[in-house]
Amino acid sequence: MIIDFHSHTFLSDGVLSPAELVQRAVAAGYRAIAITDHVGYANYQYVCEALLRECEVINRELPITALAGVEITHVAPRALGALAERCKVAGAQVVAVHGETISEPVPPGTNAAAAECAAVDVLAHPGLLTAADARVGCERGLAFELSARKGHSAANGCVARVCQQAGATMIVNSDTHAPGDLLTDSVVANIILGAGLERAQIEAISRENPAALLKRCGLATT
Ligand SMILES: [Zn+2]
Ligand SMILES: [Zn+2]
Repeated sequence: MIIDFHSHTFLSDGVLSPAELVQRAVAAGYRAIAITDHVGYANYQYVCEALLRECEVINRELPITALAGVEITHVAPRALGALAERCKVAGAQVVAVHGETISEPVPPGTNAAAAECAAVDVLAHPGLLTAADARVGCERGLAFELSARKGHSAANGCVARVCQQAGATMIVNSDTHAPGDLLTDSVVANIILGAGLERAQIEAISRENPAALLKRCGLATT
């Protein structure tokens, strides 16, 4: 039963509607999915409001937990924390930050700003994560992403090594933009093993860590 904290719909640059994305996640055997469309100051209110409305219906009607989230993307690091807090006030159940992936020119300092902001739940594709940023995030329970997405996933080995040394929490996310991107158990296991981690860690990273985060994000809104 997969729990995935990173996905996109046509509310940003994904191809599916929120309803179709979640229906496909149900069909793929997901237990929970966070819809985390790209936001900045321009569109965070619209995205939060639209996803909360959709998720309310989904959670009533479908056998899955859908969380309304955001992925703060390419926002200047010094303005990032305030936006994360605004997203929480607007009802976002999951606040992810688009980390310093090696495949895009994300502003340097984004990982550090996300690591220290209490309103950020997930640091997506952190790229060449530093030990200092991992330690700061780890202290407050930030979840660090191993990405299943092409390009971003090239730095998973670095993320895994640095998180391991810091004792930081890792999760595997799809970063779904299209139907074929949704996770399967075997893809999740391969991402974990491919990042250089041990078979014995699969259970914690694929089940226990996301379940704990799901509990925290769900509780925060009730
Ligand atoms: Zn995207
Ligand atoms: Zn994303």
